[in-house]
Amino acid sequence: MNYYQKRSVLLDEASNKEHSLLVIGGGITGCGIALDAQSRGIPTLLLEMRDIASGTSSRSTKLIHGGLRYLKQLEFGLVKETGRERAVVHSIAPHITVPEPMLLPIIKGGSMPQWMASIGTLVYDWLAGVKDRERRKVLDKDFTCKKEPLLDPRKTTGGIYYYEYRTDDARLSTAVARTAIDKGAQVITYVKADQLIFENGKLIGVEATDTLSGKKYIFKAKQIVNAAGPWVDTLDEQDSGIEQDKLLLTKGVHIVVDHAKFPIKQAVYFDVGDKRMVFAIPREGKTYIGTTDTKYTGNLEEPGIDRADKEYLLNCVREVFPTVNLKSEDIESYWSGLRPLIRQKGKSPSAISRKDEIFTSPSGLISIAGGKLTGYRKMAERVTDILAKRFAKEFTLSSCNTDKIILKGGDLKRVGGLRWYIQEKGMELLALGISGELSTRLVRLYGSETDQYIHELKHIDNRLSHIDIPDWLKAQLQYTIKNELVCKPEDFIIRRTSDFYFRRAMVENYSTDLIKAMQILLNWNQEEYQLHVNEWNELLKK
Ligand code: FAD
Repeated sequence: MNYYQKRSVLLDEASNKEHSLLVIGGGITGCGIALDAQSRGIPTLLLEMRDIASGTSSRSTKLIHGGLRYLKQLEFGLVKETGRERAVVHSIAPHITVPEPMLLPIIKGGSMPQWMASIGTLVYDWLAGVKDRERRKVLDKDFTCKKEPLLDPRKTTGGIYYYEYRTDDARLSTAVARTAIDKGAQVITYVKADQLIFENGKLIGVEATDTLSGKKYIFKAKQIVNAAGPWVDTLDEQDSGIEQDKLLLTKGVHIVVDHAKFPIKQAVYFDVGDKRMVFAIPREGKTYIGTTDTKYTGNLEEPGIDRADKEYLLNCVREVFPTVNLKSEDIESYWSGLRPLIRQKGKSPSAISRKDEIFTSPSGLISIAGGKLTGYRKMAERVTDILAKRFAKEFTLSSCNTDKIILKGGDLKRVGGLRWYIQEKGMELLALGISGELSTRLVRLYGSETDQYIHELKHIDNRLSHIDIPDWLKAQLQYTIKNELVCKPEDFIIRRTSDFYFRRAMVENYSTDLIKAMQILLNWNQEEYQLHVNEWNELLKK
C-alpha cells in the first residue's frame, strides 16, 4: 500500500494515542525538528496542512548560502552559522546541493565599492570556513565581463567570484521528512491543526481536520512545537501566554524565463538601484531572477505575483544587463513566497534580520520562526535541546547528530560519489532508452535511490499502458507515490519534480494524462478524480 492509501489508517492510529511530541508544520523547519527529535529518541508526530514544503520552503531562491549580504547588516553570527552549515548540508545531501560559482559584479554607483566587496567576501570565507578551492577570487573588469559577457562594460568596474550551493528546497525538505520517517517519526500531510486544546492552562493537544476528507481528529501530545512558518502567529493567537503579532511577512517573487531570452553564462548576484541585491541563476534551460522583498498582508497560501513585482524584476535585469530586453510576456513561470521575519521596529523589510527566534509559553507551547533554509539543522537543534530538557526524565536521549545523518538519496559515498554514479546509472538508463540531460536530471533527483527509480522503470504498471505519457515519467510517478508522500497532482508537478517552474511547456502537455495515471495508482473514484482535475486547472489559471 502506498502512503496515500495508508493515510486514513495512519490518522486513526495517530489520533487514538497520546504522543510525546507533536510538530505542526512540514516546512524545512518542522521537518528538521522532527528528524532531530526522533533521532535523539523523542517519538514524534508531524502534521502538515498541505504538502511537505508547500509553504515558504518550496519558494526560496533555492540556494544553500551564507547570506553574503547580511555582512552589510553586521550579522556576523548568522553569516558564520549559515556559512558553515553550507558544508554540512552539502555533505548530508550531496545529490541536491550543487556547488554554484557566483559572480558579484562591482557596478559604478552600486552599494559596494570593490575594496568593500573584496574585504567582505574575505571575511565571509573566513566566517563560513570556506574550503580552499572554493575561496573567493577578486576579478578585474575585463575578467568579470569575460565571465559574464552580458554585463555592461561601461558600468562594470570589477567583480568577485565565489561559491554558493544550489539546491532544490522542496526536495531537501522532503528528504528531511522521509529521513525522519525512516528513524521512526510519523509524518502526515494534508492535516490542518485548527484549534489548540488546553487543560488547566497546559497545552495537551490539537483539534485538526483532514483537508482531503474533511474528517475531524484530535491529536494529544505532551509537547507541541509550532513550526508553521508564515502561519506561526495565526496558531499562537490561541495561546495568550506567548508573544503575539511577532511576524512581519514579506513577499519574495522569482520569475522564470527561457535561458535563450536571458542567456547568462553563470549565476550572478547583482546590485540594483534601490540598494538591494538580486540573483539571476541559470538552471535547466531557464534563467530565474529574484527576489522582491515587500511587506505583505494578503492570502498566505498563494501570495501570487502582480504587475509591480514583474516590472521590478525586469527593470533590475535591464539596469545591469542592457542588451537583454526581457518583457512581461517572456515570463514562463514564477514562484512567490513569504518570509516569516521577526518584527524589528523602524526597519525596512530588507533590513530586518533573517535570524530565527524561539518563543515559549507557560502552557508548554514552543514556537519557532524566522531563519533560513540553510540553517534549518541548527534551528532544529536549538528547539530539540529545549525538548530534550523537558523529556530528560522520561527518555534517555542522545545528543544532536543530524550533521552525520545522511538524508534520503544522499548516500553517494557508498556508491562511489556523484560523478561516477551519474555515469554508472547513466549507462543503465541508456540501456532503457534514457540518455543525456534527462538521465543526469533523474540521477540527481533520486541520488542514491536511483536504483528504486530504475526498478519502477522496468516495472511500469500495466494499468498505465493506455496513458499517453513516456515511461520515464510514469516511473517517476510510481516512484514518487511509493516513496515521497504524494497526494495531489501539484505535489508531483510543483514540488517533487519542479517541472512546473522549469519545464512548463511539458507540463501543459502531460498534466491531463498524468492526473489520469494518478487516478489509477491512487485509486481515486470519478468524483475524487474530477476534484483533482478542477483543483489543478484552478491552480494553472492563477
Ligand atoms: P514554511 O516552509 O512556510 O513551513 C510552514 C508549514 O506549516 C507550511 O508548509 C504550512 O502549510 C504549515 N502549516 C501552517 N499552519 C498549519 C497548521 N495549522 N496545521 C498544519 N500545518 C500548518 N533561505 C535560504 O537558506 N536560501 C535561500 O535561497 C532563501 N531564499 C528565500 C527566498 C524567498 C523569496 C523567501 C521567502 C525565503 C527564502 N529563504 C531562503 C528563507 C527560507 O525559505 C525560509 O526560512 C524557510 O523556508 C522557512 O521554512 P519554515 O518551515 O519555517 O516555513
